[in-house]
Amino acid sequence: MTDCVFCRIVAGRIPSTRVYEDEQVVAFMDIGQVNPGHVLVAVRSHVENLFSLEDAQAEAVARATARIARAIRNAFSPGGLSVYQANGAVAGQTVFHYHVHLVPRLEGDGMAFTWPVRNPPREELESHAARIRAALS
Ligand code: AMP
Ligand code: ZN
Repeated sequence: MTDCVFCRIVAGRIPSTRVYEDEQVVAFMDIGQVNPGHVLVAVRSHVENLFSLEDAQAEAVARATARIARAIRNAFSPGGLSVYQANGAVAGQTVFHYHVHLVPRLEGDGMAFTWPVRNPPREELESHAARIRAALS
């Protein structure tokens, strides 16, 4: 996709600062750097989001994510690390080429995630689970 910023990065048509690459994955510094060491792990092919990801790509991203997370920990010694991945504009996705954020976390770094807990009754969990199981088969 010529109009996709991450496709351009993968093809080397616009600058990026890479930390890792293999057959399936390219990882580079997020230009926004929420905290120092913030890396994006992107798939090489233009895949819009998680829903279109092939198993081999998912495996490669998972392996690279764990490996780079350890490298970030060793290099920056952050207090923690958040793995963030958005699918669809409503979920906060702004670049529609599949990628995972690795964000080193620091005490009081201002990164916030609002998570409205609802604690529904067990029957509701059972009903939601049944729908997902049916969709899996
Ligand atoms: P998301 O909102 O999860 O789709 O994240 C997109 C991320 O891509 C943002 O954190 C941006 O800072 C980052 N980004 C956009 N353009 C570039 C670029 N040219 N190089 C590196 N990171 C980028
Ligand atoms: Zn793309």
